[in-house]
Amino acid sequence: MTSSSSPSGSVAAVPTAKRRRRRGFFDFVLVLALGYGVYAKTPIGAVVETGVRVARGQSDHPSWFSTFKGRETAVKAPVVDDATDTLMQGVLPKALTAAAALHKVDVDALAALVAVRGGCDAAGTCTLQAPDRLAWFAPGGKATVDVDVIAAALAKAAVELGSKNNELAIEALFTGPQALALAVDQGRKSKLEAPEDVEVHSPFLSPSTRRGPLQGALAVLLVHRLRTLAWPAAGFRITSPFGERIHPVTGLKSFHNGTDIGTPVGTTLHSVHNGIIKRASRDSISGNYVIVDHGLGVLTTYCHMDAFDVGEKQRITQSGVIGRSGATGRITGPHLHYILRINDKAVNAEEYGRSPTRTAGLLAPAVPEKPPEKKPEKAPEKKPKKPSDNAQDPDAAKPAALPGAAPPTPTPTPEPPTTTEAPAVP
Ligand SMILES: [Zn+2]
Repeated sequence: MTSSSSPSGSVAAVPTAKRRRRRGFFDFVLVLALGYGVYAKTPIGAVVETGVRVARGQSDHPSWFSTFKGRETAVKAPVVDDATDTLMQGVLPKALTAAAALHKVDVDALAALVAVRGGCDAAGTCTLQAPDRLAWFAPGGKATVDVDVIAAALAKAAVELGSKNNELAIEALFTGPQALALAVDQGRKSKLEAPEDVEVHSPFLSPSTRRGPLQGALAVLLVHRLRTLAWPAAGFRITSPFGERIHPVTGLKSFHNGTDIGTPVGTTLHSVHNGIIKRASRDSISGNYVIVDHGLGVLTTYCHMDAFDVGEKQRITQSGVIGRSGATGRITGPHLHYILRINDKAVNAEEYGRSPTRTAGLLAPAVPEKPPEKKPEKAPEKKPKKPSDNAQDPDAAKPAALPGAAPPTPTPTPEPPTTTEAPAVP
């Protein structure tokens, strides 16, 4: 019998009111917790979240099911805006190339960082907004830093991570090298095929890191990936560029969603970047085609191939052999129809990476690497399906290159495009 437990009637009123207020508060907390539980742990929350994303017009949202399964662990494809596009296509400012050379870091990694998070002025000074976790390198650092500071940070990240992987070094500027090294290590222990790929890190990073810093790294990584795309078949001329064109036969305007490269049948085709074979299939328009998923929303498609050496879900490295070019599908002459897509939108591949247009000189004059000797046996097999396709193909009327028989003539004057297009492929 303590004094508090034996109050007189008149005094008891106050604690009861207090108790009631306290209970009201606990109920409120309970309702909040329950609400959060429903939101975070049940499909209802996933549906709500997906609904919000759709309402906001976000096109790259994961399905509600994956939202439910792996909440916030998905790596979203960033968006390339026009400003980024322009910066990444121009000639690199001297300050940038000098900083890369001084610290012996990848110039494309540095350029991608500047393109996304900074810029260069007329005087040639390049500055950028410091990545989120740069503090590990420059404690008490400013929000805006010189490109030289970033180059030094990239070099240091490579040392700390013990890796020459440029994308990993970029990522470390955002997540911090310790957290990233741990994620890579855990990926290795989980026997992942590519533990250094940004796509697999999120489950191994803390929620706050994957929501903020990791997302910040993605746009830079996408630009870096685009800057370092190789060209699928070096040594051959472009017979028809990407974009609006007047159809050589119909005279009508049409949109060409890829770049035509005049490859003789049998030319070796290479994957333009690391990736996973998303599809290796054939249809009557694209012929034999391969789609490679390079991650972060970057896809490349190779059409009209003679044969492919890869299977779906197979991993391929940059410059790895996909197969040989050919003359399959709805075409009138052998060529490679090459499509580059970013976030489901076909773009002009000539404006990215190591395209012959950007690296002028990489593409030699139209001299085939080797004459295609073994062609005759290939020709008969593709004939049966051509007639029906050609019937609806305006270009088919044109007596063009003998299918499979001859390489594009090495005459310096390009004839009008002899190829018609595959609107091609999902
Ligand atoms: Zn084409």
